[in-house]
Amino acid sequence: MSIAVAVDDLPVLSAVGTVTVHDSGVARSCARCSCGWTGKRRLLKAAAEQDAWMHSIHQRCVVGVPLVRPGN
Ligand SMILES: [Zn+2]
Repeated sequence: MSIAVAVDDLPVLSAVGTVTVHDSGVARSCARCSCGWTGKRRLLKAAAEQDAWMHSIHQRCVVGVPLVRPGN
């Protein structure tokens, strides 16, 4: 038994950017994406990470690995 899948029927997943969280210290975490989107500055790094994941889900941008990066 074999299963055939038409390639044309598969959904096209075209990511437009890579989203990461920039951790610049206490109360200075912010999600940013290479597509131009910038999240709110967050008190908690985890909240900025949630912003990044939500942006990724809604805009189909790729989550960066590692997600959190030090710096500005
Ligand atoms: Zn994006």
